[in-house]
Amino acid sequence: MHHFRYVKGQLNCESVPVATLVKKHGTPLYVYSQATLTDHFLKLDRALAPLNPLICFSVKANSSMAVLRTLALLGSGFDIVSEGELRRVLAAGGDSQTCVFAGVGKTEAEIAWALERGIYMFNAESEPELERINRLAARMKKVAPVSVRVNPNIDAHTHAKITTGTYANKFGIAFEAVEGVYARASKLKNLKLRGIQMHIGSQLTQVKPFELAVRKVAPLAQKLKAKYGLEAFSLGGGLGIIYEPALASGQPEWWQSKPAQGILTPETYAATLVPLLQPLGMKIIVEPGRFIAGNAGILVTRVEYVKQTGQKVFVIVDAAMNDLIRPAFYDSYHEIVPLTQRGGALISSDVVGPVCESGDYFCKDRRLPKVVEGDYLAILSAGAYGFVMASNYNSRALPAEVLVKGRLSAAVRYRQPLPRIWELETLPRWLKYSRVPELAR
Ligand SMILES: *Cc1c(COP(=O)(O)O)cnc(C)c1O
Repeated sequence: MHHFRYVKGQLNCESVPVATLVKKHGTPLYVYSQATLTDHFLKLDRALAPLNPLICFSVKANSSMAVLRTLALLGSGFDIVSEGELRRVLAAGGDSQTCVFAGVGKTEAEIAWALERGIYMFNAESEPELERINRLAARMKKVAPVSVRVNPNIDAHTHAKITTGTYANKFGIAFEAVEGVYARASKLKNLKLRGIQMHIGSQLTQVKPFELAVRKVAPLAQKLKAKYGLEAFSLGGGLGIIYEPALASGQPEWWQSKPAQGILTPETYAATLVPLLQPLGMKIIVEPGRFIAGNAGILVTRVEYVKQTGQKVFVIVDAAMNDLIRPAFYDSYHEIVPLTQRGGALISSDVVGPVCESGDYFCKDRRLPKVVEGDYLAILSAGAYGFVMASNYNSRALPAEVLVKGRLSAAVRYRQPLPRIWELETLPRWLKYSRVPELAR
């Protein structure tokens, strides 16, 4: 499942003790396992092999150049949501012809740039967007390949902030309206109707919502294929991962604070969906983000203080919500383990960062081994929606990132030097040359 394991009491990433990475690169530090990324990509690719799928890694989950390059070398395509992501993919050696462009708010500049480069298709989310793409393509004397994102109105039963496939969400076009949209779009001369797309949500742990959505959309896809020659059907992403593992036996109790939920595997996903999709004879696209990158990364942090207040023990660490916002944003669970394995009693602890927000925590009332100042903790499953959501809140530098491959390791992003945080700021003239602003009127 992933390549973070204790070896002789030391947490390793593949064959590298994480402690040696900390010595070299400091903390907070993101550490990625290349073998884990590769395994997850290949597992999904193999499971879906009967469909001859195009896997488009969702760049918004982890846009690290080294991660994108790893996946590009494996033959991955990419699901992008901005010009910046497309430029990153190209910089990492990805092929724009394997890119699908999602998002409800594509600007004219972004569409023009993607048209110039040539992508596989735009996943359009509204009629005004289709009209805009057509207009720009006409101006550029091009034909733009498009699909329409259909909102199948299926509840993914996941966290409210990552549910996307119901009519309460801003995404896609209502199932009932899609045929009419294709009919009107077919009259727009500079569009090529290439596919149909859906994405119902993220961190799905059951195959049922996928199955319901595919059962609903597949007949429509077939009809549209016959009418307009669509060639591709994208299922979106959303495969969940295990954040609360009951890990391999022999691991200590705190690896298993809760039993793993029946998790969705690529095999279950494929066993259910392949028979529904194969008869369509379409190119099947999947857009996984979290499934590939989530368990391939950890965030390592140093214990700065242990503070006891009344009933509570606060473990105050040097990472914060600006480095990993998921607990604050999605109430998400991340397993937390020490770099050095230890016995002894477990203590109910809150692991918190230094930022001045009560949302700045990594866990609450969690039974963890006793730690002291100077110890290091690893926050697991931080490879997706981790670094990509990091900010400079509290004028904290963006953390460094390291990639491990077997015995090798390399910094793939240096820690941001502090002055870089304000390098694009300037002062207006009236503040620059006045020592006392009130007198400069
Ligand atoms: C976010 C997103 C994905 C990836 O979601 P995961 O849950 O990380 O797999 C795929 N497709 C679209 C359109 C998305 O917005």
